[in-house]
Amino acid sequence: MIAKVITDISLDKEFDYLVPPELADSLRPGSAVTVPFGKSRRTGYILSLVEKSSYSPDKLKALTGIAADRPAIPENLIRLGRWIADYYCASQEHSIRTLLPAAIRTGRVKEKKCRFYSIADRETAEKYIIANAKVTRLAKRVELLQMLLRKGESRKGDLATETGFSMAAFDALCKAGLISVREEAVTPEFDSGIETLPDSPLPPSPDQQKALDQITEMLSGRSTSHVQLLYGTTNSGKTEVYLQAISKVLSMGKAAIVLVPEISLTPQTVRRFRARFGTKLSVLHSRLSDRERFDEWNKINSGKVQIAIGARSALFAPFKNLGLIVVDEEHDSSYKQSESPRYHARDVAVVRGKLENACVILGSATPSAESLYNAKEGKFMLCRMAVQVDNKPAPLIRIVDRRLDPPPEPGVSNLLSPILIHAVEERLERAEQCILFLNRRGYARSLCCPQCGYEARCPECSVNYNYTYSRSREILSCHLCGGVVPAPHSCPECGFQDIRYSGSGTEKLESCARGIFPGARIGRMDSDMMRSAEDYEVVLDKFRRGKLDILVGTQMIAKGLHFPGVTLVGVVNADLGLSMPDFRAQERTFQMLTQVAGRAGRGEKRGEVIFQTMRDSEVLRFAAELDFDGFSKFDLEFREMLNYPPYTRLIAIFFKGEKESEVASYAAGFAEKLEAYRHENLRITPPAPAPVEKIRNQFRYLMTVRGTGLKKIREAIRILALHHLPPSGISVAVDVDAQSLM
Ligand code: ADP
Ligand code: ZN
Repeated sequence: MIAKVITDISLDKEFDYLVPPELADSLRPGSAVTVPFGKSRRTGYILSLVEKSSYSPDKLKALTGIAADRPAIPENLIRLGRWIADYYCASQEHSIRTLLPAAIRTGRVKEKKCRFYSIADRETAEKYIIANAKVTRLAKRVELLQMLLRKGESRKGDLATETGFSMAAFDALCKAGLISVREEAVTPEFDSGIETLPDSPLPPSPDQQKALDQITEMLSGRSTSHVQLLYGTTNSGKTEVYLQAISKVLSMGKAAIVLVPEISLTPQTVRRFRARFGTKLSVLHSRLSDRERFDEWNKINSGKVQIAIGARSALFAPFKNLGLIVVDEEHDSSYKQSESPRYHARDVAVVRGKLENACVILGSATPSAESLYNAKEGKFMLCRMAVQVDNKPAPLIRIVDRRLDPPPEPGVSNLLSPILIHAVEERLERAEQCILFLNRRGYARSLCCPQCGYEARCPECSVNYNYTYSRSREILSCHLCGGVVPAPHSCPECGFQDIRYSGSGTEKLESCARGIFPGARIGRMDSDMMRSAEDYEVVLDKFRRGKLDILVGTQMIAKGLHFPGVTLVGVVNADLGLSMPDFRAQERTFQMLTQVAGRAGRGEKRGEVIFQTMRDSEVLRFAAELDFDGFSKFDLEFREMLNYPPYTRLIAIFFKGEKESEVASYAAGFAEKLEAYRHENLRITPPAPAPVEKIRNQFRYLMTVRGTGLKKIREAIRILALHHLPPSGISVAVDVDAQSLM
């Protein structure tokens, strides 16, 4: 028998090894093995076992053994890994690697073993005790044997707490063979530190019942599709549907995975699942230590838990009898991985479901254009939940056109329009809370000299204005490469003293709000402030308990948080995202605005939302009406007209390198090799400098392929990118179904 093995070097190559007969029975696809490799030895995973190799048997080496410190990858995941490698043009090794948490894959964390000690042989021990009862020198040993006889099998720690225990005597008895050791792997007990009150299913609303009926049909295998698009406004009760669908799946003896965007994996969400499912649930958040991640993986792998909830990578939870995958907020862009394999967890969830006969629920209040299209085409079943469970009125949303404001007084920051200021003041008087949202951190966006025109930019990256000024830390930082420099007080070019900072971020907004609302208690939440998970929780907690009046923040506060006291949300720059050169800019802006708007009026009182803008935009109007149907029709028409996804598929290929001319000529050569695959339903845009031309001193070129019938060209791109190595200093990144073309 021949094993096809991939090692940990990313060559996209399977190596053939003979399977020694004594191992034949214990190996299967997914097994971790050690193999001779050149002069050394490596660990690898078996992808498949076959009868014949295309190499002659005398040329083949035998694999050396099973890698005891690494668990095997379940066979179902191996299949998924191969699909990912093919579809996303990634190497097999990269794909297999994503299936396993690093803690498991590297063997870095070992299974916790516990040692149990017992009397090796009762008779011998008793003889020893009798023979040495009077020997003072051996008194401790005798005592210890008696102790162990009395207690039976024990851990060393338990013995050591007894009075009179002697380590020297213990070691001597072990050495002499009077005490024997047994090792056993232990999985930690469920963390009892988390206390949640159990809760039970709520009687479903008519909409929820409809969704659950469809899911029941799906689970029984009678439906036309294994995927349900659950399109329901915020508060329509989607989460309750997930919970009840999962209960159903558990009662069928199957397991479930719940994917949520990392940012919404908040204690609030987890608490709801924990309350319903208790210890059946494994929570996989990014803050787990290696050890914790290792333990959670093992709990899932051994069937000790039946539900896993987590961000993107939880999709690879090693359940063997998966019944359901829920993808909450399916439109969220964090489901796309930015490194190879650049997979989209929602799309892979649909594939995993198909491969393993499991059902998939894609939930969203603002479904992606891709999923709506699939529903329209009949590939997914659509379930619409239009009624909010609690019948809360939607917030009142107003667009404030800043161009109509009176001109600001000189020297006064005009981030907030008089209308918004007035609305905040009303809230402060009534002791209600406000959120002010600006999707830019920092104090200012650019530093420029009014005298000589100098503009501060990150020297390693290309985009104008990409420095963010933080006044509290007196630094300029680049959001592309993370580079930081001290902020100059005078122009570095001409020495002019009155250097200006223009544009604004959350830090500026905070200080501006402090000036306008002197008595208010103001907190800020953005990635500059939130250095750790605790910072995040501290601010949220303060806000939730009413210890803050105004919360200023970025995207971070947009999602999923529930603050009953908030009755006003102000979006400072509602049109900010619309000028991005990306066909998804409208979709992102709409989603962001409706999500932020959803933070208003979660409590008793009706919420109000103000969008400040400097331009006319269809997108803002749809968002202000909370008219997702109108927006999606508008956006789909736009995409159809321009031949963008979901009407086509799109592959972006990025070329990177330090010398621009080399990058350009390599990219041109790459593109030329694809000419042979051109057909009438395909558009190939030739390589050109990407919108972000340079990051970390690397020039970037971008070419795109879009159209229908991409299979052949995708295969060609995969081979070119993985098997024809570019000259040193140049790298190629293929992004299938790219979410961003920047
Ligand atoms: P979504 O996930 O769509 O935002 P949730 O499932 O979180 O909606 O439900 C919103 C609120 O309504 C929650 O507080 C939830 O407990 C409550 N809720 C959901 N379903 C029901 C129901 N059938 N009966 C009563 N309350 C419900
Ligand atoms: Zn930079």
